[in-house]
Amino acid sequence: MSGKFCLDLTKEELEIWCKENGIQSYRAGQIHKWLSSGVTDTKDMNNVPAAVRAKLEESFIFGSFKVRQKLVSEIDGTTKFVYELHDGNIIETVVMRYKTGLSVCISSQAGCKMGCTFCASAKLGFGRSLSSGEMFAQVAVSQKEMGERIRSVVVMGIGEPFDNFDAVMGFVKLANDPNGLNLGARHITISTCGLVPMIDRFTDLDLQVNLSVSLHAATDELRKQLMPIARKYGLNELMDACRRYITKTNRRLTFEYSLFANVNDSEKDAETLVRLLGKGLWHVNLIAANEFPGSDYHTSPKHRVRRFQEILESGGINATLRREMGTDIMAACGQLRRGMETKDK
Ligand code: SF4
Repeated sequence: MSGKFCLDLTKEELEIWCKENGIQSYRAGQIHKWLSSGVTDTKDMNNVPAAVRAKLEESFIFGSFKVRQKLVSEIDGTTKFVYELHDGNIIETVVMRYKTGLSVCISSQAGCKMGCTFCASAKLGFGRSLSSGEMFAQVAVSQKEMGERIRSVVVMGIGEPFDNFDAVMGFVKLANDPNGLNLGARHITISTCGLVPMIDRFTDLDLQVNLSVSLHAATDELRKQLMPIARKYGLNELMDACRRYITKTNRRLTFEYSLFANVNDSEKDAETLVRLLGKGLWHVNLIAANEFPGSDYHTSPKHRVRRFQEILESGGINATLRREMGTDIMAACGQLRRGMETKDK
């Protein structure tokens, strides 16, 4: 077995592998079809001969993606999968149902180095980055488990996608493949906590993929308390990178702003945010963040959230309120993994 995960391969790469191993090239199409439909165990690839399956096992990593837990919210049907990877790392994937169909929130790393103080994932530290195929498999396996096509993907689960830049871009390529998941770039959103040089790298690629930037505070002082990355890249630098992105791509950017009671949800905070953003091709997604056991932060009450939104809107900033989903199954990033690993210890 090599260190390469079979799901990392494109159909063309599988064809090359077939050729190198004296296997007829149409087998690549069969294998690729199985992988794209969420089958990650060679024994289930029933139209592929045993000798070819054995060769696959010998060449690549398999045996990943055990569904360690599947939780379905009684409130809104949000489904959370906890997947165990081939090396024992645990990740989470959340499937949400919108009017437009199913959307999946995938993890880009097992754990996270960014250390945001409000985040359950940060509290468990960092395991490793995921490969492109491991991101792809989260979509393919979740789609198979749901028995329904997934329409859109947000890379907003555990991990910082731009800390795993090349693999995330590889995932976009795999997801786009019309012979596989056939997910258009416009249906993929990548969310970053604000790694400025990587925002510029992403801008230079000029993709149709959507970008979302986690802001959570309108001053450097408060942002530094919530997100250690703010010590490295201040708001001026971050906003400049966001403007460069918009100028180059002419695409609308989303700012994520999670509201925490008496931390960043006051009228003054909203007014400061209006001044920071001014006019631009962006909108703000307000999130009344879920609480999780052991967190120092509490959910902002509804009336404060509404008032915050009103101030943004009267300041000319388009602000939507993201529905809280799966609150009964701790659906926000890292919350379940944390519960599980705490219990495991
Ligand atoms: S909020 Fe995102 S970037 Fe920050 S620690 Fe959590 S997973 Fe990492």
